[in-house]
Amino acid sequence: MWQFARVSFFRVFLTLTVAWCALSADAAYINGHSYTSLTGWAANNRFASVRDGRADSLTLTNRYATRLVFEKNSDTLVINGIDVALAYPVALDKSGWLISQLDLTKTVEPLVYAPLLPPKKITTICLDPGHGGKDTGKQVGSQTEKVLTLLLAAELRGQLQQAGFRVVQTRTKDTTMELTERSNFANKQNADLFVCLHFNAFTRDPQSVQGLETYAITPVGAASSNAQGEGANHSACVGNRLERRSLLLTYLVHRSLIKNVGMTDRSVRRARFAVLRDVEMPAVYIEGGYMTHPAESKKIFDAGYRKRMAAAIVQGIIAYQKLTAPPEPPKTNPAKPKKVPATGKKK
Ligand SMILES: [Zn+2]
Repeated sequence: MWQFARVSFFRVFLTLTVAWCALSADAAYINGHSYTSLTGWAANNRFASVRDGRADSLTLTNRYATRLVFEKNSDTLVINGIDVALAYPVALDKSGWLISQLDLTKTVEPLVYAPLLPPKKITTICLDPGHGGKDTGKQVGSQTEKVLTLLLAAELRGQLQQAGFRVVQTRTKDTTMELTERSNFANKQNADLFVCLHFNAFTRDPQSVQGLETYAITPVGAASSNAQGEGANHSACVGNRLERRSLLLTYLVHRSLIKNVGMTDRSVRRARFAVLRDVEMPAVYIEGGYMTHPAESKKIFDAGYRKRMAAAIVQGIIAYQKLTAPPEPPKTNPAKPKKVPATGKKK
């Protein structure tokens, strides 16, 4: 979907400038939020709508096979088959399809135009196994989240090291750790990526919920997806500086887990979890399934399944690196050793 890398930055910049000018006339306010024409944006960005006979959904595709599916009044956008949470629902009125300006600039465009990010090589990855020590996290029978996150981290660490990354961990033992200690550790280590590992639980109706949720930092001006008591008026935090990269990383890790492990898609979401607020590098927060779901819990408690999860996370990180790493320097032929003729005299 990011084949825009082949398009020059200048050309895309021009396209976006034209799009902004064209759309300013179509601005609207819905529930106090600034909306803009999605149909107009699509036209200016060379997306064509696919007629599927449904009046309440809009499917857009472009020549690079990027596929965006919007549903009327829904705050979930499907990008190439993966659910991504929007801050505000898309709308359809007499003028056409409308999307909040914030979602367009903070979610849609960072994923469609990802290759325009300046390149940055990934050397060190910080893993953060959630909870530990006195804080057990979720508990189901004899299984505790703090142990499962540590086991997944150990598996992930080995696979990342095999792939050539340097790996550091906020904790490698069953120790109690404050949230600020975790982000401080990652920042001091100059980590290039931060990966938080957690598992979920829903005790009220265990059968009803299973699947993967991943979280990237909530953009300024938006409420978090689960809106746990914090709203849109939260000021910018350290994590917002790299929010575009964090969203891309989160999307690619999420996509890899859905495609390679077959988890139920509970959407790429936004949150202002303390660790996401305070880290100075792109970060993804993984809630890797529900320990309370009868079928999913069996998988989570199985080492072989966690190994597959780790492999999928590694693949997501490598996909992210491919899009954001600087190009490799051209390979030069190693100097040929000078031949000394067998009969010649050495100087
Ligand atoms: Zn947790």
